[in-house]
Amino acid sequence: MAYAPLPALDDLSNREWNELTSNLEKTINLCQQLGLLHVYPTKPCPKMHNNWYLGACSTALDECKWRCRTCKSSRSLRKDTFFEDSRLTLQQILDLMMYWCQGLDSHKFIRRNIQILGDATIVDWKNFMRDLCLEYFIRNSVVIGGVNHVVEIDESAWTKRKYHRGRRVGTQWVFGGIDRDTRECFAVLVGRRDPPTLIPLIHQFILPGTTIYSDRWPAYNLINNEIYGPKRYIRQTVNHSVNFVDPITGTKISSNSSDRISRLSNLPSINLNLNDNIGSCTITLITSPLHFFFN
Ligand SMILES: [Zn+2]
Repeated sequence: MAYAPLPALDDLSNREWNELTSNLEKTINLCQQLGLLHVYPTKPCPKMHNNWYLGACSTALDECKWRCRTCKSSRSLRKDTFFEDSRLTLQQILDLMMYWCQGLDSHKFIRRNIQILGDATIVDWKNFMRDLCLEYFIRNSVVIGGVNHVVEIDESAWTKRKYHRGRRVGTQWVFGGIDRDTRECFAVLVGRRDPPTLIPLIHQFILPGTTIYSDRWPAYNLINNEIYGPKRYIRQTVNHSVNFVDPITGTKISSNSSDRISRLSNLPSINLNLNDNIGSCTITLITSPLHFFFN
């Protein structure tokens, strides 16, 4: 197969994207380039032959299957991939990912442009993509902030799933922050949300001199504590239950998460919705299609 360079997905226009995925063959090709589909199956057939070819199959959703030349057994193109278990077409799934990354994720838009009709399916995929992005940031956290930078921090329960529709593998607390200017983030799994846990993470991931926005969680009162480092940061409290005015820009910040998302970035967010006494909070993270393409 001719191996073209990986397209710079972040910069594509919709016209270019539609061209890249205009038919099934091109879509499969793109998925293989991105590492979302195997170029060749990683496991042999049940009879241990390793003699696969991609053959046409009129009954398969993807119109083709891996077939063993030796014993004629077959295997789904999606076996052991991101797409396994989904009944959506590859084009629908790629479109969902591409549009979601651009914040084009209203159910109305998705129904019209991707022809996914069920609300449950849409919600399910949005959750799945959000989880993948969060996982990306957990694996790729960076040090953020600095003088004249504003960092928002928050923590939330995260229910991780294995693949979309997958069984829940337990609830986990996640602590994270985003630099409003650079959109860089960190996210860390934490066992507890007390000062001895959170303050060292703040010191680890946020540079001194940063203005930190946080909710009124008591642990954050100790950000500038004598023990943990006095006057290390400038701190602003965000009360998520009311609107407040940004002390730097004078901008009114809404506690409504969708308002905050569009104001901050026009990009979809990792919605960390809390159901306890803290209220409903959102950490907004820059989201690129490339965040899906890691192993
Ligand atoms: Zn075989």
